[in-house]
Amino acid sequence: MASDLEEVQKVLRTVAEGQAQLLSAVESISQRVGELERSRDGHRQNNPEIDGVGRTATPLGSGFTHTPAAVMPAEAGTRTPPAPSSPEVKSGFSSRVILTTYPKQIGIKPLPLDWGAADPLQRGPVTVSRSASTIGRRNAIGAHGGSYSIYYALALASRELKADHKPDYTNTEPAVKIGPFPQWSDKKKIVAMDPWGHLVPWLFKDVMEKENVDLRPTIAITKAHMKLPELEESVRSGRLVPDGKVCLNKFGELSVTKFAVEPVWYLPGVAERFGIDEGTLRRSLFEHTGGMYPELITRSDIKVFLPPIGGLTVYCFGDPAKMSDPSKRLALRIHDECNGSDVFGSDICTCRPYLIFGIEEAVKEAQNGGSGVVIYFRKEGRALGEVTKYLVYNARKRGEDRASDYFKRTENIAGVKDMRFQALMPDILHWLGIQKIDRMLSMSNMKHDAIVGQGIPIHERVELPESLIPADSRVEIDAKINAGYFTTGQRMTEEQLKSVQGRIWEDIDH
Ligand SMILES: [Zn+2]
Repeated sequence: MASDLEEVQKVLRTVAEGQAQLLSAVESISQRVGELERSRDGHRQNNPEIDGVGRTATPLGSGFTHTPAAVMPAEAGTRTPPAPSSPEVKSGFSSRVILTTYPKQIGIKPLPLDWGAADPLQRGPVTVSRSASTIGRRNAIGAHGGSYSIYYALALASRELKADHKPDYTNTEPAVKIGPFPQWSDKKKIVAMDPWGHLVPWLFKDVMEKENVDLRPTIAITKAHMKLPELEESVRSGRLVPDGKVCLNKFGELSVTKFAVEPVWYLPGVAERFGIDEGTLRRSLFEHTGGMYPELITRSDIKVFLPPIGGLTVYCFGDPAKMSDPSKRLALRIHDECNGSDVFGSDICTCRPYLIFGIEEAVKEAQNGGSGVVIYFRKEGRALGEVTKYLVYNARKRGEDRASDYFKRTENIAGVKDMRFQALMPDILHWLGIQKIDRMLSMSNMKHDAIVGQGIPIHERVELPESLIPADSRVEIDAKINAGYFTTGQRMTEEQLKSVQGRIWEDIDH
């Protein structure tokens, strides 16, 4: 019986190999034909075809009647990815579009990936590269670069970037050492980033060289100085005292360690955080990105997804090793992006004031021998984006802009008042080795609950001092406090909230 099975397997393998050879022969013939055609008609555009299905290849150049998605099914094998040396790869694009839609396709052999394994070599590297030598080894869905992945596609399409470019990682290694911490191998604690993402080119050097696979870091760590006008003022007024190490000089110049992190999602863990099943998560991601990632549906063997969304940056003041030392105090601000206020100084909200307050308190904690951390998430306008945000502003300013209606305005337009979903946010705290927070510089209940829910206690919550709240942002802050944001002060009644009103557009002399 066993030997019969072995015999069958052997025959199947031979058939598969034969098919691969046949397909690559067909490929090289069609390539020759393509070359001949192109030489006959010099101006003719590349005529891509869809492949990866081992049967019909659909020409795209002849019109727009064929959609690539229509060529998806068929379990059968496909051609093996072209060798890197073949001329079609050198031109940037192969003559056929290669799909990696089915796990049993010929040439599909994902690099082993055991999410949560403590030993990084056993865990294995994450790869989404479509380079000729790696496309069959992909063990994740999506693309590198988060929201910038589309620019990468544009750079290739416009031939600004060579498809076979190999990054040179000389001298790019992390500026400080971090971890590894036990949290890195806890499948429940880290599901939204790759804990080994900062060490990829060095940890997996062997596999990169021996198997010629393209692996890229998803985390980078550097050091910098930063200058902010408000902190210069803090030093001038004596609120902050230069120490020559953290707060460097009389201009309030700061020394900081920065960590940039791109999202890497372990789908079963992400689904669990949201209390939904993995299938629902995959389906929603597939459908609501316009079917951009078919593998979300067809490759249940692949569990990791690099979503096209913004990442985060950690700003650490003081010795980074102190973040994970429970005997040292830690002050933390989790800040979600608000470009209009953070960068351009809009006074309609408290974002920049709270960010600056967070940085100043973080610096003070570091100066006192502890650690101060500010984490900046790219989640513009409560992750609704700036267009929705400005529509809300208009609706507010054309109405009466009362604190009592603040959240209603957003809900009317977006359907929800907030899409930041803090469920995945605590991952970065686990990754930094943070075990408790002494001073949490935030009034948000969602952030508080997410962190505490992940088993990291918060000893003290610190609200934004009254003196730092811009006049026009009273509407926002009072509405938030009324909706349950943390305060040591008074929570207004509905009646009182109605009397908190922002200024109208024309009123600029406030
Ligand atoms: Zn804001």
